Amino acid sequence: MRIARRALVLLLGRIVESADSAVLAAGARHPYSRALIAAAGLARPALHGDPPSPLRPPTGCALRLRCPLAHDGCAQVPPTLDPVAPGHRVACHVAQDEAQDGTQAGGKAP
Ligand code: SF4
Repeated sequence: MRIARRALVLLLGRIVESADSAVLAAGARHPYSRALIAAAGLARPALHGDPPSPLRPPTGCALRLRCPLAHDGCAQVPPTLDPVAPGHRVACHVAQDEAQDGTQAGGKAP
């Protein structure tokens, strides 16, 4: 039996986070990844509202209407999947800013 070591998190058909599965479980950086991990542990959902329609996704980031970390820039520019650490890529403006600053204000769960 083989088990994948790399995990991909998709939102509306786009990869929003890619990392080693152990790294993702211990330190997910995208708010959607964090919400999925929290939901798997039956914690209180970390997102608000309903999922967006894939036929009419919001402008900018697809998660921005549900994301507790969203800011004005999230509505203007769709985030691209960029490295935040070796082998770890995230499509989130806040996670990328935190990676550059060396902070992680959102913590393990928003
Ligand atoms: S880009 Fe903005 S809206 Fe999208 S997940 Fe990151 S903080 Fe939330």
